[in-house]
Amino acid sequence: MKIPFLDLKAPYEELRADIDAAVQRVLSSGWYLLGAEVTAFEQEFAAYCETDHCVAVGSGLDALELTLLALDIGAGDEVIVPAHTFIATWLAVSATGARPVPVEPDEHTFTIDPARIEAAVTPRTKAIMPVDLYGHPCDLDALEAIAVRHGLHVVEDAAQAHGARYRGRRIGSRFTSAFSFYPGKNLGALGDGGAVVTRDAALAERLRLLRNYGSRVKYEHEIQATNSRLDELQAAVLRVKLAHLDEWNTRRTHVADRYLKELAGVDELVLPAVAPYADPVWHLFVIRTTRRRHFQDALAAAGIGTLIHYPGAVHRSTAYAGQTPPGASYPISERLADEVLSLPMGPHLSDDAVDTVVGALIAASRT
Ligand SMILES: *Cc1c(COP(=O)(O)O)cnc(C)c1O
Repeated sequence: MKIPFLDLKAPYEELRADIDAAVQRVLSSGWYLLGAEVTAFEQEFAAYCETDHCVAVGSGLDALELTLLALDIGAGDEVIVPAHTFIATWLAVSATGARPVPVEPDEHTFTIDPARIEAAVTPRTKAIMPVDLYGHPCDLDALEAIAVRHGLHVVEDAAQAHGARYRGRRIGSRFTSAFSFYPGKNLGALGDGGAVVTRDAALAERLRLLRNYGSRVKYEHEIQATNSRLDELQAAVLRVKLAHLDEWNTRRTHVADRYLKELAGVDELVLPAVAPYADPVWHLFVIRTTRRRHFQDALAAAGIGTLIHYPGAVHRSTAYAGQTPPGASYPISERLADEVLSLPMGPHLSDDAVDTVVGALIAASRT
């Protein structure tokens, strides 16, 4: 039995008839950008996130960058980011001309450690950009307290957390939040896509200008802006999938619960923790081990795909070489980068497949 890390074809196969019909509807409409599908998707996704406004854009990275621009963040400013994240979080800040200032994670939840944030705040700090990494919400109450104390914006990178809840409320309902619809995300398009959700009507309006040449009325340009639009085809497909997102997240939780139960006795594997305030959506199921290569090779030999999210800490990437301030070090992030291993996860992973992964991990722990 071959078990791929992620099966991207399975969601299409489950919904083939509805997705095909949605695509046909757009193809024969003759309208391909900023039309009825995008408007409907924006309303449906804002409602799903229990918030007021949604502005769909070209990617998750654009959603983050345009939100910072809409908040007038740029050169000379600093934005606090997790040291342990996908590089896009940092790149969104850098693209505005501002400086990403990393803060170490809580090693149990993998999300930014609120207790370490205030030491990183300076007079230049404008915002905190926490990440609901792997689908686990960050500690929003603690972040809000810090943001209020220092007068900072919070822009949440929710690219991995569609549908997650913090103390019962949806991610996206509290802070302005950026989502990605990259195909492998919990809500994935058939190409690139992203969105910002917010309670702030003025911010949403500014984002609508920024994504479309600074224009509300065709050929009237109010600000210098860019082109970053979700297309009608992607919006139509996302609408079909959104109706199944809760069910798919429940299936992910079922897989996670089985991994947590069956692997609890394997001493050398550190399993992901769930904070008391969190209903995670298990974008990834990430374990830790000091014998990562051994386990990854053993699983590969058994036909089981795994990945590493992420194999190098961002501050050690070539892209950010030489930009770590003197004396700063990020040992937790570096250790996580050396130890994390993502197991197969998804709504279409069968119970038999989970049994096979568990069996292979237990066998590998004895060699
Ligand atoms: C996927 C992702 C992004 C970027 O999304 P794209 O749609 O690929 O641009 C940003 N942040 C995190 C944490 C992500 O996982």
